[in-house]
Amino acid sequence: MAGGDFAADGLIARLPQVRGRLTPMRVLADLTWFRVGGPAEVLFQPADEEDLAAFLALCPDDVPVMAVGVGSNLLVRDGGIPGVVIRLGRAFAAIDTDGTTVRAGAAALDARVAEAAAVAGIAGLEFLRGVPGTIGGALSMNAGCYGTEIKDVLVEAHAVDRKGRRLTIPAAEMGFSYRHADAAEGVIFTGAMLAGQPDDPAAVSARMAALLAKREAAQPIRERTSGSTFRNPAGFSSTGQPGDSDELKAWKLIDEAGCRGLTVGGARVSEKHCNFLINFDNATAADLETLGETVRARVKSQTGVDLHWEIRRAGVSIPPQ
Ligand SMILES: Cc1cc2nc3c(=O)[nH]c(=O)nc-3n(C[C@H](O)[C@H](O)[C@H](O)COP(=O)(O)OP(=O)(O)OC[C@H]3O[C@@H](n4cnc5c(N)ncnc54)[C@H](O)[C@@H]3O)c2cc1C
Repeated sequence: MAGGDFAADGLIARLPQVRGRLTPMRVLADLTWFRVGGPAEVLFQPADEEDLAAFLALCPDDVPVMAVGVGSNLLVRDGGIPGVVIRLGRAFAAIDTDGTTVRAGAAALDARVAEAAAVAGIAGLEFLRGVPGTIGGALSMNAGCYGTEIKDVLVEAHAVDRKGRRLTIPAAEMGFSYRHADAAEGVIFTGAMLAGQPDDPAAVSARMAALLAKREAAQPIRERTSGSTFRNPAGFSSTGQPGDSDELKAWKLIDEAGCRGLTVGGARVSEKHCNFLINFDNATAADLETLGETVRARVKSQTGVDLHWEIRRAGVSIPPQ
């Protein structure tokens, strides 16, 4: 889909010079799990943290800026994303362990961080093996599964704000809640310090493998999907807080509303896990979003519950012809 009615050449001329790469009208579909959506008006891939900070310090205030990780929780609309989309690369992907501490760049994959922790005999980060995003995405989403979230293992996050200032944000100041971090507003995360407990590397690896097998059995993890589409309605995490009962799971409500397998264009509600939407046949972002809204409307009319999107939707739609 073409989309992106932007005068990107005009925007590039207003942006500061960088050592990394600025690409006008960069299609984002191949940078997301759903494989849909229009271009970024400009995609910025900073050379390193200094390049990122210098860019943000000089980038005009009226230019919208957002980060993407590996797009495993992102629906980019067909008209693309106005402004600058920042994607961190290799310079932000280092992972180091020291005792029971792990330092990871924001572009490091959660799975690699979990594996590095296991090799170093650090327990508590196994859950990250099941989240297919980056550390930046995990900080922004308070990602988690099987009873642990990033908030439980974070010591501090590192970020650059919209003015180019480098920040160290202690875990207690992240404003974490269910799949949300207040501190993510207006910052680009560059890295994190995480901590676990000492354990036998083989025992940590075994727990990680068991978690992965469980996930593979229950979720369509090899499809063009973005994971859980809607939050579980009570708004609580799966850490034993009130409301975290099976009755309140989004997938159950979707199933009860008869939406399992529901299709719009090339988009379908997964048969395997009906809180997952799948791009099964050249779906557009509009197909996926319309399908999601149809599910919401059916669940509302049949159960009275308002589902809220967990997937982040970004950019502009293409108006119908
Ligand atoms: C098959 C599958 C299974 C999944 N299972 C789980 C699960 O069990 N638990 C779970 O929590 N999630 C799950 N997800 C969702 C997703 O993997 C997580 O939300 C993940 O943390 C997103 O990371 P990302 O790098 O892909 O971020 P993206 O999808 O690229 O972005 C998500 C959000 O994070 C922001 N962001 C990304 N990087 C940065 C940065 N450096 N600085 C500031 N903001 C940033 C983006 O602006 C956006 O708002 C699943 C997804 C899939 C496809």
